[in-house]
Amino acid sequence: MLRRLVLTRGPELAVLGFLAAIPLFVTNPYALGLLTLLAIYGILLIGLDVTVGYLGQVNLSHVAFLGLGAYAAGLVVVRLHGGFTFSLAAATLVGLVFGGLLAFPALRLEGPQFALATLSFATLTATALNELEALTGGAQGLSILRPPFLGHPLSASGFFWLCLALFALVWMAMRNLLASQWGRAFEALRDSPIATDAMGVGTYRHKVAAFALGSALGGLAGGLYALNFLYLQPQSYSYDLMVILLLGVVLGGRMSLWGAFLGACLVVLLPNLLSNRLLFQVFSGLGLLLAAYSGTRGLVKKTTRPFQALAPVVAMGLLVVGGLKVQNTEDWRKAIFALMLFSVVVGLPEGVMGFAAKALSKLFHLEPPALPPAASLDEVLPARASDGSSLLRLIDLKQYFGGVKAVDGVSMNVVSGAIHGLIGPNGSGKSTLVNVVSGLYTPTSGEMTLRGRLLPTGSLMRVAGFGVARTFQNLQIFSGLSALDNVMVALRGAYRTPMPLVLLGAARGEERKAQADALALLELTGLGVDARTPAKDLTYGSQRLLEIARALARRPELLILDEPAAGLAHPDVMRLVEIIRRIASRGVTMILIEHHMDVVSELCTTVTVLDGGRVIAEGTPDEVKRHPKVIEAYLGQAPAAGAAAEA
Ligand code: ADP
Ligand code: MG
Repeated sequence: MLRRLVLTRGPELAVLGFLAAIPLFVTNPYALGLLTLLAIYGILLIGLDVTVGYLGQVNLSHVAFLGLGAYAAGLVVVRLHGGFTFSLAAATLVGLVFGGLLAFPALRLEGPQFALATLSFATLTATALNELEALTGGAQGLSILRPPFLGHPLSASGFFWLCLALFALVWMAMRNLLASQWGRAFEALRDSPIATDAMGVGTYRHKVAAFALGSALGGLAGGLYALNFLYLQPQSYSYDLMVILLLGVVLGGRMSLWGAFLGACLVVLLPNLLSNRLLFQVFSGLGLLLAAYSGTRGLVKKTTRPFQALAPVVAMGLLVVGGLKVQNTEDWRKAIFALMLFSVVVGLPEGVMGFAAKALSKLFHLEPPALPPAASLDEVLPARASDGSSLLRLIDLKQYFGGVKAVDGVSMNVVSGAIHGLIGPNGSGKSTLVNVVSGLYTPTSGEMTLRGRLLPTGSLMRVAGFGVARTFQNLQIFSGLSALDNVMVALRGAYRTPMPLVLLGAARGEERKAQADALALLELTGLGVDARTPAKDLTYGSQRLLEIARALARRPELLILDEPAAGLAHPDVMRLVEIIRRIASRGVTMILIEHHMDVVSELCTTVTVLDGGRVIAEGTPDEVKRHPKVIEAYLGQAPAAGAAAEA
């Protein structure tokens, strides 16, 4: 217990304590200024890492939130004669609000389009700060006097301690957030946005909330920046700085608080690096050694290609040679940053922390805390009474892709408590049909009702809210998460603590409960022993079962299984049949798409057969097997009746 505490919190406390103690011994104002900046950039980069690291999006607008926060704080002080706390609160709020406003449209976009949207926002902000002269003073700049803090004027060291305390708070809050459902959701949505939505977690709203939070931290850092420099100029928040911030996050290591801290150290040191020749040479020499070491190691382990190993060495070599030749490194700053960023992106994509984490984890190996005992299944998946009434009704459903009539007028009725088989040759429209039902596609036409209520269309999220859960023919597990976390992320109604309280660490109780619940579902599917195993390391069969456990976490009324036995060996198929029986015994209605006819015969009461997007037969397994149209449809394919067809 104590060892755990020392190992997990010790390094943080040691570094913070060390930083906090420095002003007691060092009075040099320049050094103190650098330390203050370190704390401010620490907050800024933790905020940037939320989008760049955890959401995996290229965010080029963070510098704009720094600027907006700085001007918000500055204007509160100058125009409203507001105090210290008020100005910082205003800076944070402005970051939050503008971050939210940008996130709503921008996060509908992906990849390069998102990057461009954020770049436009940064440009727009810089221009506005410059041109709104009446408000901001334009290029003239804005001078402010630092208001007293709680009635006391702050000395340089006092201001530093305040910044450091805020940095420590942000660090702690972020750690709490990442250890909660929020952190799991971030990781899940990077691995599979589709499954994140289908599990009712909501990719988009998590992204928007995270972006707004990151921007709020940018705003807070901006407020501190303003109160630190006391003079604001629009050109401080330029594209140059954005590149340096990205360099900081990427070099330090994405998705890591320590990485953000290392990045902040780098950003603070960069100007000195450029003005001090010796420092520059030491740094670029170290960079060259690191590039050579990690490149060689990667080549030996065959994890990097020759280009990946060589390019950073060449880039760093250029820096070393350039450092000897060039008169004034300041003139080359952009080229230097570019070379550094390039080297890191190519040669050390996980950053210094990613690189060090493996070594450190061996050194400080920690068993994860013991899991609570599994909850009772009656609690996690309460048995439903199934009365045989109609649950899902599809009326003349059509889904066309251009000229392809994937689903062409399907009507179907699934009764409550049934295991309803859905079979048909390859390409007959089975997956498309369930994709429409589960909200992945918006149907071309037709009607879908669940218990008489119209099902929403085209939204996995909203259909999930109706009590429909599903697995995917092409696995959509959250590969980076453990088996337990895969199930935990989907648990319905398990997380009620609002985000501000989560930041304060108030979600631990519900986390423990969620672990117990998820464990019960893993045990139901025979994966209890694999709870801590990363999903990507599970066998293929176990991954398929994990998807079922995860879908059950939704406590679904209707569970759709799209070829759960595909690719499974015979013993695993038998296990699966047993598990499906157990699920059915809890009153969960299922649609089972399956190629193995013996599985279908064993489990299903009713079977619908599709061919060419149309229903060609429906009835008991025995009836459809004998149906002439079914026999005809399967001619040329593997035989429908009897033995298992191809996977
Ligand atoms: P099944 O699951 O029964 O094997 P699918 O539903 O995957 O069949 O496919 C039915 C038909 O629809 C196929 O011809 C397939 O090529 C087509 N199809 C499926 N999804 C799409 C899509 N997103 N865009 C275009 N065509 C598609
Ligand atoms: Mg399919």
